[in-house]
Amino acid sequence: MEPREINIASTGESREDHKDGTYIVRRLTGSGSTKPYRCPGCDQLIPLATPHIVAWLEYDEEGRRHWHNTCWSKKDNRRPNTERTRNAPKF
Ligand SMILES: [Zn+2]
Repeated sequence: MEPREINIASTGESREDHKDGTYIVRRLTGSGSTKPYRCPGCDQLIPLATPHIVAWLEYDEEGRRHWHNTCWSKKDNRRPNTERTRNAPKF
């Protein structure tokens, strides 16, 4: 009997502090996806077999979301569909 493959240890989880709280972040290879998810960052579907991020507030695993890697990395900057005005970048 083969152990069921669960990609938790191999993908790894990390904790990230964001403006709205501490997130648990799991990086998925996408190979285990069975359906496309909608990314809350850009409101587009994440195609099957696409490496992406699953993240949720540490106390709200029910509220987990699937993100494009790039959208997740931009999360704390500006979400393009929620904020039109841009602060001047600080250099
Ligand atoms: Zn996205």
